[in-house]
Amino acid sequence: MRLNIHDRFNQELPADPVLTPSRRQVTEAAFSFVTPRVPSAPRLRHAVTEVAEMLGLAPTDLNGDTFRRVFSGGEVIAGTRPYAMCYGGHQFGNWAGQLGDGRAINLAEVEHRGQHWTLQLKGAGETPYSRTADGLAVLRSSVREHLCSEAMHHLGVPTTRSLCLLTTGDQVLRDVMYDGNPEMETGAVVCRVAASFIRFGSFEILAARNDLATLRQLADYTIRHHYPEIQAENQADTKASYGHFFHAVCQRTLTMIVHWQRVGFVHGVMNTDNMSIHGDTIDYGPYGWLEGFDPDWTPNTTDRSHRRYQFGNQPKIALWNLLQLANALYPLVGDAAPFQAALQEYQDDFSREYTNMQASKIGLTHANQAANEADEELISQLDTVLQLTETDMTIFFRLLADVRKSSNVSAGRDFLAPVIDAFYDPESLTDEMIEQWRAWFSLYLQRLNQSEESDAMRRERMNRVNPKYVLRNYIAQLAIDAADQGDDSLIAELYELLRDPYAEQPERQKWFAKRPEWARHKVGCSM
Ligand code: AMP
Ligand code: MG
Ligand code: MG
Repeated sequence: MRLNIHDRFNQELPADPVLTPSRRQVTEAAFSFVTPRVPSAPRLRHAVTEVAEMLGLAPTDLNGDTFRRVFSGGEVIAGTRPYAMCYGGHQFGNWAGQLGDGRAINLAEVEHRGQHWTLQLKGAGETPYSRTADGLAVLRSSVREHLCSEAMHHLGVPTTRSLCLLTTGDQVLRDVMYDGNPEMETGAVVCRVAASFIRFGSFEILAARNDLATLRQLADYTIRHHYPEIQAENQADTKASYGHFFHAVCQRTLTMIVHWQRVGFVHGVMNTDNMSIHGDTIDYGPYGWLEGFDPDWTPNTTDRSHRRYQFGNQPKIALWNLLQLANALYPLVGDAAPFQAALQEYQDDFSREYTNMQASKIGLTHANQAANEADEELISQLDTVLQLTETDMTIFFRLLADVRKSSNVSAGRDFLAPVIDAFYDPESLTDEMIEQWRAWFSLYLQRLNQSEESDAMRRERMNRVNPKYVLRNYIAQLAIDAADQGDDSLIAELYELLRDPYAEQPERQKWFAKRPEWARHKVGCSM
């Protein structure tokens, strides 16, 4: 197994001089050197060939002993020095001070085909940032992270990737959410891959400590390696470059959030320590996928009273998080104007991009500018009718593509036939609700008939925007239950399914199904 190692973060930024994992405040440093924990009986449970190739690994490497040892934490790659990153963050709206990689360990940076990737093990043992916890991860949460990272990537959502999932052979003590009794669970490690794991909180911790020297080093490092175009354009004016960097992060975050809203993904813990400066989706914990379309829905059981991170709030929370990043970078610039401008632009751009995205989900094209206002009305009315009775988001938008321009909506309820399978309980549709749906479909068909485009062409466009298959919460749970029994075939099957989420895949049609009743309240909030 040969990787082209090219470490930068732990070479160019200040290191914590202490070399033990004793829990502590780490100051004037961006990271601490750590040693991954050696697992007792590591076993590869699933690996992603495509990510391996992206890193320059050969498919045959995946079955080797070296791969198993390195990616379970048992062997350090020659010439590398693993490290945990120091960061802080706002958790649920409150400043939480130092957090850091409590159970993540960066192994190394790899360069392949001109791109740099950081390899990071999650669940490989304690670090100075582990606080009261053990630095470990369990199979349940690791399966969820592994499958969801890859599913998101193939949906076209910016995200950290996942190279592989291994079990360690060690047992880990956890509170299982369902009954609250502590239980031993199977320990696991996932290898995440990203351009970097620098977060909003990486800057916030330095600003909070008024450590402007390290703050500037980290900002310069980030721009130099991850936003080189900004450095090139602002050679003579580093102050301006920080503002441009912030602007770029705003734009990437916006893109990520519009995608989340498009596919019905709810992150669950949008704390600023879980916000990547690349606009990658990062840290798959208590995330969930919308089943019934419900803007209030939150998968995170610890957030059920305030619902801060509910589906419909994600755009606003991202803005709030960006404001925290702006506050952290402000001391480097000393002028609020560039930050305010970038935040304002986020809001203006967001409403435009969001409307365009929603229009694309119902198959509208914006060739005709005059139609915009009417389209917005159509979109906002859909938001309302989708919530009349529990309606599966993924299934609804997918089936909506089958509606014909020639449909007749004037009487009865047959006009709902193409989408009827999206309703959890079609019997619950009252006459009044049917009339609201009829009103919406009348407008929709009118709008579709203003276009020359054929039903088939529109359908094809819609099916490229509306996935058929997402990692429904109960589906992930089935894979976890099987893996717990030692059967990894469902992980492999779901990985294949979710690699092509917009394709029909008739042989896998059974996964195009509403959540079964047994799974209604069973959403894994995993730590
Ligand atoms: P999260 O809510 O997953 O973003 O985690 C918040 C903080 O808790 C981060 O600093 C994590 O590294 C840390 N953390 C979460 N789980 C563990 C664990 N099992 N052991 C050590 N640190 C953890
Ligand atoms: Mg986190
Ligand atoms: Mg987490």
